[in-house]
Amino acid sequence: MYETLSLYIDGEFLEGEGRVEQDVFDPATGERLGRLPHASRADLDRALAAAQRAFESWRTVSPMERGAILRKVGELSRARAKEIGRNITLDQGKPLAEAVGEVMRCADHCDWHAEEGRRIYGRVVPPRLPNVRQLVLREPIGVCAAFTPWNFPYNQAIRKIAAAIAAGCTIILKGPEDSPSAVVAIARLFHEAGLPPGVLNVVWGVPHEVSEYLIASPIVRKVSFTGSVPVGKQLAALAGSHMKRITMELGGHSPVIVCDDAEIERAAAMLAAFKFTNAGQVCVSPTRFFIQEKAWDRFMARFTEASRGVKVGAGIAPGTTMGPLAHARRVSAMADFVQDARERGARIEVGGERIGDTGHFFAPTVIVAPPDDARIMQSEPFGPVAACVPFKELDEAIGRANSLPYGLSSYAFTGSSKRALRIQNGIEAGMVNINHFGQGLPELPFGGIQDSGMGSEGGTETFDGYLVTKLVTQMD
Ligand code: NAD
Repeated sequence: MYETLSLYIDGEFLEGEGRVEQDVFDPATGERLGRLPHASRADLDRALAAAQRAFESWRTVSPMERGAILRKVGELSRARAKEIGRNITLDQGKPLAEAVGEVMRCADHCDWHAEEGRRIYGRVVPPRLPNVRQLVLREPIGVCAAFTPWNFPYNQAIRKIAAAIAAGCTIILKGPEDSPSAVVAIARLFHEAGLPPGVLNVVWGVPHEVSEYLIASPIVRKVSFTGSVPVGKQLAALAGSHMKRITMELGGHSPVIVCDDAEIERAAAMLAAFKFTNAGQVCVSPTRFFIQEKAWDRFMARFTEASRGVKVGAGIAPGTTMGPLAHARRVSAMADFVQDARERGARIEVGGERIGDTGHFFAPTVIVAPPDDARIMQSEPFGPVAACVPFKELDEAIGRANSLPYGLSSYAFTGSSKRALRIQNGIEAGMVNINHFGQGLPELPFGGIQDSGMGSEGGTETFDGYLVTKLVTQMD
């Protein structure tokens, strides 16, 4: 049975009941899975009032009690990972093992935020006078509005929710209407774990209508968004006009630098597996592959072989290693990238086409030697397309890697610690992974710079966006 889709406001699950609804489809088959109710203005007002009311008491609840609820949600996530994962596969498309893995990893985010919430410390600053005491307090910012996307529907939502509620904030979250089951499941787990009404509220609707209404509300003090750069800029501008704190986790166009002294076959196999995870619909997916000339032939032979070996199919089918894209607009976006690259003289070494006419399947695709002004080298593909280009000198590769306004993740493979250091120091990105993919753990900060966003999720930085600083200075 697919999830019963609902809103979650002030501790109550609300279904259609005369509200506007939208259909939710399986991207592998085009079949209708369910109907998602949109929040009316009255629902949004109710969510705002509930979050404001709940904040007054939630802010005073001890971090131990908040942590206990988060740990319970972690436990429930592990116990229900199979059924939640199955629904994610149905409405988002990724292979079942990836969907279940996403839910399991989120349990770690719950546990980690439960613990780290105990360590939101202030400080005592030595005074200039003997009878003065100076305290720096960190307090929860208040009601947060969060907007999360469809590519990791469980992970993107739980990271914002865990950080907000561990910090003592309350939250209204609008999840992805295309792939909503994960966020409804999260609401059910928090409900079952005993989260007080109003601390978490889940709403759905026309994205820009909901975000504009919530961000403009004086009740909302903080805005957190994960999604595309253009939408992030719009929401950041709107939040700025109301002087609201933001966390923006936006797109990337991650460079990979493979040096000729790396373990080439290992790098090629690892990169092919990572590239086609979630059909490439990952903000940190490797997308621009810079391969040093002497390693080119070996790398390309292994990388194209591994890309051809990806088993495309419905995520629910055993053995599938890459599912459909989440919706039709991603399929046409991929076809446009391929056509543009072809017209500019690039070679399509693997794939390049839609597969079949049912569902949103697109073949794993390797584009060889597109010019730097090809669209695939300029704009984030957010799909199963890799662009590979050769380079001679490391400085040239670092320069080309840094040539775009994105700055989310980056990857490099080298056997030399000297080169690794040059890459660490030279790459402009929020995250640099050398010889492995290590980012994304709850204890590590995840976030981008430049157009890729602002603020970090995870790591000790995770609460920065959810706290305000208050100075108290007292004279006896
Ligand atoms: P999109 O920009 O239309 O939507 C991305 C997400 O933002 C969706 O979940 C959508 O519901 C939401 N959204 C859109 N407009 C909004 C608004 N005004 N207010 C609040 N939420 C809004 O793009 P898309 O076609 O769904 O996805 C493709 C693009 O999105 C990619 O190019 C990629 O850069 C970006 N994306 C990034 C991430 C990420 O993890 N950073 C995740 C998903 C999508």
